[in-house]
Amino acid sequence: MNAREENTSALRSFMHLEADEADQVLDATLLITEKGGNKLFCGFLLEVLGKTFKRIDVEFHEDQSYVCEFVIENSKALTLGPWVFAGADKDGKLILSRIKAANQFPASTRPFFYLLLSCYAGASILKAMLGDRVPYASDEEICIDPSLFTRSPEIFDLEIDLGVAYLAGAGAIGNSLLFALQFFRVKGLLYVTDPDFVSDGNLNRCLFFKNSDIGNPKATTLVAYAQPLLPSLKLYPIKYELARVPAAKDGGAWLKRLIVAVDSRRGRRHLQSEIPGEVFDASTTGIAEVVTHYNKQPLDGRACMGCIYDQDAIEDAHEKHVTEVLGVTLEQVRQNYIEAEAEILIKRKYPQLTNNIIGIPYDTLFKELCGAGRLVTDGDKQVLAPLAFVSALAGALLALTITEHILNISSYNYWRLSPWCNPNYRLQQVMLKSSKCEFCNRLAFQKGSIEIWGK
Ligand SMILES: [Zn+2]
Repeated sequence: MNAREENTSALRSFMHLEADEADQVLDATLLITEKGGNKLFCGFLLEVLGKTFKRIDVEFHEDQSYVCEFVIENSKALTLGPWVFAGADKDGKLILSRIKAANQFPASTRPFFYLLLSCYAGASILKAMLGDRVPYASDEEICIDPSLFTRSPEIFDLEIDLGVAYLAGAGAIGNSLLFALQFFRVKGLLYVTDPDFVSDGNLNRCLFFKNSDIGNPKATTLVAYAQPLLPSLKLYPIKYELARVPAAKDGGAWLKRLIVAVDSRRGRRHLQSEIPGEVFDASTTGIAEVVTHYNKQPLDGRACMGCIYDQDAIEDAHEKHVTEVLGVTLEQVRQNYIEAEAEILIKRKYPQLTNNIIGIPYDTLFKELCGAGRLVTDGDKQVLAPLAFVSALAGALLALTITEHILNISSYNYWRLSPWCNPNYRLQQVMLKSSKCEFCNRLAFQKGSIEIWGK
């Protein structure tokens, strides 16, 4: 699927829109009215929203009809609405409001929060356009209080030493993570691993990637864009899976810090089985929610990725459907990537596939062969890409998770956020291990952890 089809498919599957309604959304023209000179925020909005909406004007054109006007700070609205107003409330908290105009942002507003608001803006604009057609609970006004969102306002000024760390996944969340990390003083060495190549279907949500990147390795492409923004963090691309990096061969304590930005639950569990010293993770649940999670060995009864992303019935149903569509076995599907033997089986069923499909994720080929219209089970929806603002929110949140845990100021290991609603800080919680987890409850895993990381 190309970028447009990915977006159509997300709107149809997650929002239950008809094909023509999805087209109307994607072809919509938005107006950003910004007269106060807040170019930074305006730029982030264009980056994030531009991945979903075809045209965004920053100058008002009389002959153009706008489906939504995004009014920044105390700029005067130029259309008859619907509007989304962005700025500060009377207490200086940051707001996105569909009902009332906002004041100027405090001068002290950090760029990170402009990025965060740009992500929330995607949901607020869709809600303003679609009203009750949005199938998620949503707030008319999103209020972000920076002093609640992070435990320490100094987080943006303190040096954050990542040491040597690995990032698994250079897709949508990986893109947004590295984009967001530029607002922190991060140093160290980060290996960026991803075996996949940039495809047209990634362009609808990977903030950095452009048309001219199609066909190039995701890892090297992401590093090329992000490195200039992160002068004290050395990025090193690895064009294959994490398990195949040279350091992994010797075993031991090589994977001290792992940042997880892969796109499947199984992929996350697979990475947990490597027993990383620390895991920083963020994921998306369709376009409804983002989740951030952290764990450190020894787990001491706290949740790992196996607990958070346990294999559920929905996932089973989807995998079974993939085996039926591709003509391969369940064991093969659970390998994540297509291997030589599976390629033969798939090409026997689909002789029209003439290109090399070895190394492609099963879900990618499944989506291509099915098309959005024929994805039938609820489980299949989990392989659909979310819209850009949701992945961007997950990446931004991941940047915060990493920095807060490295500075040792975070008190929770799990947080769920909806881009449609106000952040609920009570959901910042300590998640304990699950009795169903395939890792925590296994003796070999516990022993392995002690061998590598000590008690
Ligand atoms: Zn677990």
